[in-house]
This record gives sequence, structure tokens and C-alpha cells, in this order.
Amino acid sequence: MKLYDFRNLSLKLDSLNYPEVKESRFEIVRKDFSEEEKKGNITFKEDGIYLLINGIEHKGYMYIKKADIGRFGFPKFHITNCSVIVEQKSKGFFNGHYFWHNSNTVTIIDRNTNELKKDIKLSLCSRCQAQANIRDYINTQGFFDLLDIQVEQPEEIVELDIFGYVKDWQQISKKFRIKNEYTCNKCSIKISKKIDQRFIQVHHKNGDKKNNTEKNLQCLCILCHANSDKKHIANFQKKRSIHEINSFIEKYKDELIRIGNPFIMIT
Ligand SMILES: [Zn+2]
Ligand SMILES: [Zn+2]
Ligand SMILES: [Zn+2]
Repeated sequence: MKLYDFRNLSLKLDSLNYPEVKESRFEIVRKDFSEEEKKGNITFKEDGIYLLINGIEHKGYMYIKKADIGRFGFPKFHITNCSVIVEQKSKGFFNGHYFWHNSNTVTIIDRNTNELKKDIKLSLCSRCQAQANIRDYINTQGFFDLLDIQVEQPEEIVELDIFGYVKDWQQISKKFRIKNEYTCNKCSIKISKKIDQRFIQVHHKNGDKKNNTEKNLQCLCILCHANSDKKHIANFQKKRSIHEINSFIEKYKDELIRIGNPFIMIT
């Protein structure tokens, strides 16, 4: 199952001679963990276990295929080589026993009854949670919810997706934000921290994304931008955007209240 269909974007890009943009995004995949590890397709990273599929790294987790559910309840899912996994390996109970997966739910076989348990949301292993310092999610649903925002998504792809074109949009946008000193034209919050400057965005006043004259541009914080009109409110409902807005509010709540951002109270 493909969650994102970038076909239209790719076609558009092809016609504009930008074939270098990948048609990636993630797919729901379940693979035998050991087999993929043997092939060298598995990489452990801080926030998950990455599986290489057609040259693209997909973030996921591992979980045991067959479990003694009657005795131990549902197993946990893992995102690191935690002590539980190390122990399983030392007992020779790892190879061939785990799946790599990236969906919100899993299917597990009850070892005693051979019954299939479907659509199960597994909880994150507490050792993994501690080791990777995970606070954003506690189960496979939460893990999954974060997938679409954590896959590397260069800004120009987003812009191209919406606008249809404008290759130098990123430069235009950056220049404009620098000129405005990363200050929101509406609530006047100023973001100095480089890592947070993505919270300042450039808005097209008349809605025409092809009109990049300065008169038509406006520097807005993500919160003001998301609330600028009905269309924007709808556009910012995507998980990725909501997560971004939430992290903005989380980091700058006090400042937003202090300067009287008109949207801080209703969120
Ligand atoms: Zn673990
Ligand atoms: Zn603002
Ligand atoms: Zn806008």
C-alpha cells in the first residue's frame, strides 16, 4: 500500500526537466528481519531500524513473529539492539524469529494455538524507549503517526507539490526570510535559533504561488500562516504540519503569549 502518491508531482517535474527528484516516500512493508540483515539492508539508527528498499531507507521496527501470548501477553516492538534483543540473540532465538515492519498494527501468531492475532498495536519495549530516549510515542500507532514527518522531506518538494513549479522557491523564500530577520509579519515573533527558523514561512498574499514579487510575499510564523485563511487551515491539517505547529508552540509558548499571538489561545 502506498501512502503517498507523488505521481502527479513526478510528471510535473519530468516536464520541467527536474528528473533528479525522487518519487520516494514510504510504503508499508513487512520483511523477515534476519534475511534483510544478512543482505546488509538493515541499519540501526537513533530513532528506528532502517530497511533499504530500492535504494531508499525506510524507517521501521522489529517484532517477534510468534509469541506465547497466553503466558506473556502481547510482545513489545523494538527499535534498538536493546538488552532483550541481545539476550534473544545469545539464546539463539533471534534469527528467523523477527519481522521488520513499519505499519501502525501487526499480525502475530499465538505460539500455542497457532491463532492469528490481527490489527494489534504493540507497545514499545521499555529498554528501547530508554535507550533511544523516545518520548513521542508508546506504541506502533504512535510510531506510525510520526513516520510521514520524519522521512527526510526537502522543502522544495513540498513547495513544488503545492505550487506546481518554481525551482528557486527555496532561495526566494530564504532570502525573503533573511530580509525580514525571521520575524512574523503578523504576530512579530522573531526566531533567532537557526534550527527553529523553519517555523518562519513565506506566504503568498494573493494565493498565487507563481507570483513571487515581494509585494505578494509575507513572512509568517507557522502558527499565523496555518490560520491565515480557510484554505490554509485545511492545508495545515496534515500530521506533519500539526506536529510542526505543536513543536513550535511547545518551544515558543511563553513568547507567543507574551507578544499576544492571536492564535495561541485557541490551540
Ligand atoms: Zn527493545
Ligand atoms: Zn506569527
Ligand atoms: Zn500561505
